Amino acid sequence: MPTTWHVLGAGSLGTLWAARLFRAGLPVQLVLRNTQRLQDYRAAGGLTLVEQGQAQCYPVPGETADSPGPIKRLLLACKAYDAENAIASVAHRLSAETELILLQNGLGSQDAVANRIPQARCISASSTEGAFREGDWRVVFAGHGYTWLGDPAHPVPPFWLEDLDGAGIPHEWSTDILTRLWRKLALNCAINPLTVLHDCKNGGLLEHHCEVATLCAELTALLENCGQPAAAADLQPEVERVIHATAANYSSMYQDVANRRRTEISYLLGHACKVAQRHGVAAPHLEQLRQRLITHLDNLGLPSD
Ligand code: NAP
Repeated sequence: MPTTWHVLGAGSLGTLWAARLFRAGLPVQLVLRNTQRLQDYRAAGGLTLVEQGQAQCYPVPGETADSPGPIKRLLLACKAYDAENAIASVAHRLSAETELILLQNGLGSQDAVANRIPQARCISASSTEGAFREGDWRVVFAGHGYTWLGDPAHPVPPFWLEDLDGAGIPHEWSTDILTRLWRKLALNCAINPLTVLHDCKNGGLLEHHCEVATLCAELTALLENCGQPAAAADLQPEVERVIHATAANYSSMYQDVANRRRTEISYLLGHACKVAQRHGVAAPHLEQLRQRLITHLDNLGLPSD
């Protein structure tokens, strides 16, 4: 019997993964937060994934977090700020045999989850795939990309990566997943908050070159001094390259704020500032940026944690 893929979080990435695993004939079970959400889901008849304008509904079975069965493989597909509560809701179903795949952006939530369930293996992921919700249970696959998976505590890849091959989920096992997560976090810190504060697309930051360069210098020093030198290498040229390559795009944080959604600030810029303080690395501009962003979110009446 193949192991069931439990997918907690039927949002953008959760749906993208669940739909592809399900159509490859693999056993998939969606885990929803409560009976009301399960009823809504069943009434909808399944998850709809829109690819290149074509919508297809996949009747992936669903259950609530407090269902009785054990969970051996869990894809945690919620936002970073929901991860700890979400894992607590299924903790009674996890064992030493359980493997978790953590799809959260940024850093901090992975450790919080691992500390809650020390018995389970936690695999972190960093993805460049893009998807967004058009409505409940309906997700648009917006950008093809790659997902890197890795376990900082254990370099051996799990055998079930072949399920991802079968499901057409582009991936690679990474022995330096922390470097990848830190690099992505640093790029995010140098670009996303400024797009919110300057109310611009990524390309608008070309007019704020000095501010970006100052942040890159502080981020580089931080990475070099907190045990992540590989993530620091040539950071500023890469930030500039990303700004040029994505000039016409709005950053994910910009979109969250524009849509009045909670941001993942605490797991991105907030995490960088926390680690800088812990390691005694001076990061005054990053800290000032964090304060400006918090004030901006407060003024908009949005959560700033
Ligand atoms: P999302 O669309 O907001 O989906 C999150 C889902 O988690 C929602 O369906 C939410 O349920 C569910 N959830 C939260 N707490 C739960 C709980 N306790 N029990 C059950 N379900 C729960 O988020 P997303 O865009 O997929 O992002 C997930 C993570 O992937 C984030 O860290 C994000 O930064 C990262 N990421 C996303 C993308 C992308 O393109 N979307 C790309 C790369 C990385 P409700 O619907 O009931 O609220």
